[in-house]
Amino acid sequence: MNYNKIFSKISRQLNKTEDTGEVATYIPELGNVDPTKFGVHLTTINQQHYHFGDSEEKFSIQSIAKVLALVLAYKQEGEKLWERVGVEPSGTSFNSLFQLEFSKGIPRNPLINSGALVISDILVGYLKNPKNDFIAFVRSISGNSDIDYCSRIAESEKLTGFRNAALINLMKSFGNIKNDIDVVLDFYFNLCSIEMTCKELSQTFLFLAAYGVNPHTNERVISISKSKRVNAIMQTCGFYDEAGEFTFKVGLPGKSGVGGGIVAILPQKYSIAVWSPRLNKKGNSSKGIKFLELFTTETEISIF
Ligand code: GLU
Repeated sequence: MNYNKIFSKISRQLNKTEDTGEVATYIPELGNVDPTKFGVHLTTINQQHYHFGDSEEKFSIQSIAKVLALVLAYKQEGEKLWERVGVEPSGTSFNSLFQLEFSKGIPRNPLINSGALVISDILVGYLKNPKNDFIAFVRSISGNSDIDYCSRIAESEKLTGFRNAALINLMKSFGNIKNDIDVVLDFYFNLCSIEMTCKELSQTFLFLAAYGVNPHTNERVISISKSKRVNAIMQTCGFYDEAGEFTFKVGLPGKSGVGGGIVAILPQKYSIAVWSPRLNKKGNSSKGIKFLELFTTETEISIF
């Protein structure tokens, strides 16, 4: 399929409508990005590449990194992971405190902030040098040693991360955080600060389109069963309280971040990353979602 041609066609179509979304400013550093940026990169499992626009420019992947943290923690903990975090869509915003009180400190899923904080706690607990070991894992699955944290973004988030501090304190009060709160928060803020280009992002997630095997190296990252479950969680929980709508419109498992990135996969076929910094009211890239909706409509293939 000539994906490049489809990208240009959709882009022309989208340029006719105004993007009413807004760049995230609650993390001040994120507000400095050029809102007009737009990039897309698709990598097939046979390593063919298709791209359009600003696909080689780094951006903050934010919550998308939560999937990679989940993969590493799941590898280590196995099914006992689900004693500390659920697998249900939240139906609330990414940083909501609301459900934690009722669920006695057990987050609804690993892709909202509270869930990712529990995953961070698990990684801090077992990794020797948590930040170094985690970025080494990300580099190994992406096949790119250049991927790194962004200290400016992590610092900016630390200075304004009051809701995350509230979430972790509440969970600690219920006994669902084992390590020092500041250490876990520091790990979490760094996790969210990772920067990638659309190309790097689509390459990094390719193993989830290949049943857990990294097509760059042929090494197994996670088992087929775990890969299925991670994809299922992306499908049902990857877009906060817009997960149903993303499934309805796009029909692929995926994950968004407040930096305006979205990654989605079509099993056995491809991984696609889109970046457009303006976010809709639910905190997801507005143009990114529209682009992917038109993309699966145009290609007539989704998981459904
Ligand atoms: N670092 C962001 C936060 O904790 C992640 C949110 C997101 O990308 O959805 O608020």
